[in-house]
Amino acid sequence: MSTEVIRCPRCGSGNIVGYRGSYECMNCRQVFTSSKISENLTIEEATAFIGRSNVQKILHKIKDSSIEVIEPKFTYGEGVEYPKLREIGLSIQAVEPALEDLSKSEILVKEASSNIILCPICYSHKLSLQLVCSVCGSLNLEKGQVLEHLTCGYIGFEKDFQKDGRLICPKCRKPLKALGVDYKRQKNVYKCLDCRSLLPLPERRYICENSHTFKEEEIILKKIYRYRVNPAAKNIIEQLTIDLRPILVEGIKLGLYVRSPATVTGRSGVEHEFSIAFWKDVKYMNAPDAVVEIQLSDETVNEMLILALYAKMIDVGVKKVILAVLPELSEEARKLARIYGIKVIESRDFNKLIEEVKKNLKDVVATLKASETL
Ligand SMILES: [Zn+2]
Ligand SMILES: [Zn+2]
Ligand SMILES: [Zn+2]
Ligand SMILES: [Zn+2]
Repeated sequence: MSTEVIRCPRCGSGNIVGYRGSYECMNCRQVFTSSKISENLTIEEATAFIGRSNVQKILHKIKDSSIEVIEPKFTYGEGVEYPKLREIGLSIQAVEPALEDLSKSEILVKEASSNIILCPICYSHKLSLQLVCSVCGSLNLEKGQVLEHLTCGYIGFEKDFQKDGRLICPKCRKPLKALGVDYKRQKNVYKCLDCRSLLPLPERRYICENSHTFKEEEIILKKIYRYRVNPAAKNIIEQLTIDLRPILVEGIKLGLYVRSPATVTGRSGVEHEFSIAFWKDVKYMNAPDAVVEIQLSDETVNEMLILALYAKMIDVGVKKVILAVLPELSEEARKLARIYGIKVIESRDFNKLIEEVKKNLKDVVATLKASETL
């Protein structure tokens, strides 16, 4: 099935390492992105790749620039954007769902910041207001200052009272004497030139850049959020942005096919994610032949992790599992891992951890090959 294989767009080799949404051909060293191989992927698979890589781009930016708050900014030209994330080159349509995902997983904390209104038909934020006569619906309005002649009750635009430098009532023809005594002035009054109605508050109508018109009750109110990096999620961010490339390259050298992070569907239909998954051949839809799970923590990791990992192993059907833990497992967790046949590597030093994983990967490949020749 073509959906199982990612091939190099240059040399056609299937020996591809996928990493954070970009791929590298181990045959000719061509680097390419998921869009170039999209014809070889199912839509779901491609979407999952793109979605994940956007989340990771944001996480890397947060980590590299020590971002604490991601503030939104609204401009008429660009709409809503997040200036601190501008460098990573994602559209707002890509950034918003990724930020949403990160807030659902409590890595970011979402706070309401402001709102904008959108066209209910095309969702454009580029809107203008139109004023409409609330009596006859005409758009033929005029705005001005209005005078009320208290003596006769006539109300009209000031310019209609002006005659030879004086104010004369157009109805009763008497000159106006003093403001507040025999006449009053009202600012910002609208007059419909079609039905002659005076409108202190004409009806408001919106028009978008695509000429859709709609009333205030039809507008879409979109909330704009700021995203605060959850201080408690620092370790998770560390974990999601660690550089696993040395392990991936080792796997490739050993002749394995690699995905990182790897989403694998279990027998239950549930999707499980592993830090790295390895296959002996390009059957990515099958259970991986080995997986590496990386867990970074600032305290001793307990047996819950082992139970969760075991559940994933069983559902996916992977037999060779390496668990790399920084700094260490609890005694209980270690015991459980031994029972479940999980190879555990512990270290307080990240580089040592990576080196140990590489060494163990070699052993795994050796046993995989030995089992083949039986
Ligand atoms: Zn190639
Ligand atoms: Zn519109
Ligand atoms: Zn009117
Ligand atoms: Zn008058």
